[in-house]
Amino acid sequence: MLAEADAWRARDLSVVWHPCTQMREHPHTLPLVPIARGDGAWLIGHDGTRYLDAVSSWWTNLFGHAEPRIGAAIATQAMALEQVMLAGFTHAPAVELAERLLAIAPRQQGRTPLSKVFYADNGSAGVEVALKMAFHWFHNRGEHRRTKFIALENGYHGETLGALAVGDIPLYRRVYAPLLTEALFAPSPDAYLAQPGESAADCAARAAEALATLLDQHAGEVCAVIVEPRVQCAGGMRMHHPDYLVRVRELCDASGAFLIADEIAVGFGRTGTLFASEQSGVMPDLLCLSKGLTGGFLPLAAVLATETIYDGFLDDARERAFLHSHSYTGNPLACAAALASLDIFRADYVLARNRATARAMAALAEPLAAHRHVADVRQAGMMLAFELTRDGDKATPFPSASRIGLKAYRAALSRGVVLRPLGDVLYWMPPYCVDEEQLQMLADVTRAAIDEATA
Ligand SMILES: *Cc1c(COP(=O)(O)O)cnc(C)c1O
Repeated sequence: MLAEADAWRARDLSVVWHPCTQMREHPHTLPLVPIARGDGAWLIGHDGTRYLDAVSSWWTNLFGHAEPRIGAAIATQAMALEQVMLAGFTHAPAVELAERLLAIAPRQQGRTPLSKVFYADNGSAGVEVALKMAFHWFHNRGEHRRTKFIALENGYHGETLGALAVGDIPLYRRVYAPLLTEALFAPSPDAYLAQPGESAADCAARAAEALATLLDQHAGEVCAVIVEPRVQCAGGMRMHHPDYLVRVRELCDASGAFLIADEIAVGFGRTGTLFASEQSGVMPDLLCLSKGLTGGFLPLAAVLATETIYDGFLDDARERAFLHSHSYTGNPLACAAALASLDIFRADYVLARNRATARAMAALAEPLAAHRHVADVRQAGMMLAFELTRDGDKATPFPSASRIGLKAYRAALSRGVVLRPLGDVLYWMPPYCVDEEQLQMLADVTRAAIDEATA
């Protein structure tokens, strides 16, 4: 069976170009891991080797791999209607999913709830939709000076050119900079960046003041502020105080800009609440969802919008309409998977169970906080991160050439756990079905991986 895995590795490397990978590192530095099937929190190789999926397959999986209820919903839908274009046509899964997403979306006292859903087929495309909608809405109103977006330092919103333009991670962005539209960047509210003596709330307040200044400097020019509420995930699982979003909401209202909440990674229970914006009691004008939306089965994105935004496109002129489209917009199979996923949240009391799991994660992580290379342990619900430094102190990051993350990845993989660190940040973002024994294994392997990577 090992021979089978080797055969897949060889065939793969002769034809497949992998995402987010320096292909030169395969096959020797970083052997590919062929996966034959999934079972709950496990990924299983052709030789039967089991890997605990501690990163939920790039944050997509919610309830475990090959979850039978979602699988069955997709199969049933596939036998009835696999795809129909959503322009001029509609289907029950798209309608029902829109109804149900709007019913559970974050609300805020005094604001009319989000009331329309625009579908796309991946997170980056969803971000493009939100950015274009915000810009186009002002354009339709004749506010032609509102062409700028404000995003946060260290933020991430995807890989397409529009999404990359509002992202601030040099590794992904730098080379394409000449192609990108210019965005304005406000300081991150990241609590890891707190000055000595400053609390997470102080740090958030300071970042909000800087955003206020930026909005003032560009009065009448900003169409939207885009943020990842609560956790900047690709930026190293950096977390901030929920008060920040409260202030961003107020500042957007005062300056007339829209607030786009990118909950593509943090949505669907990752941070403890169904949506991270709830922890701030804030409703955005545009809410981007993807990743966990289908329980991790199929690509789909949804952008939830206010009635005010929707109304701004109603007109006799075609070009005033939002003509954006993707061939697979609102694919019935993906919508059916998302509906089945929402059913599971209810049937299995997922958020309540997650609260207990999050407490178990905290208890297991606590002893690691004292490790001599751990500078910070932070948690938001089902996301928990360890920041590694040379002396366990924020001021002594490892030189990036030491590739601590890569070493930790390999050390963990050889012990049957998939950790895929972001730089020197190791994190746990397991599927919600993870059990105590698996969490214990995760904690043990994390310690071993840190030891081995820093040895
Ligand atoms: C992953 C991610 C995206 C992009 O989604 P893709 O489906 O990978 O294109 C956008 N925003 C955030 C916050 C993400 O984590």
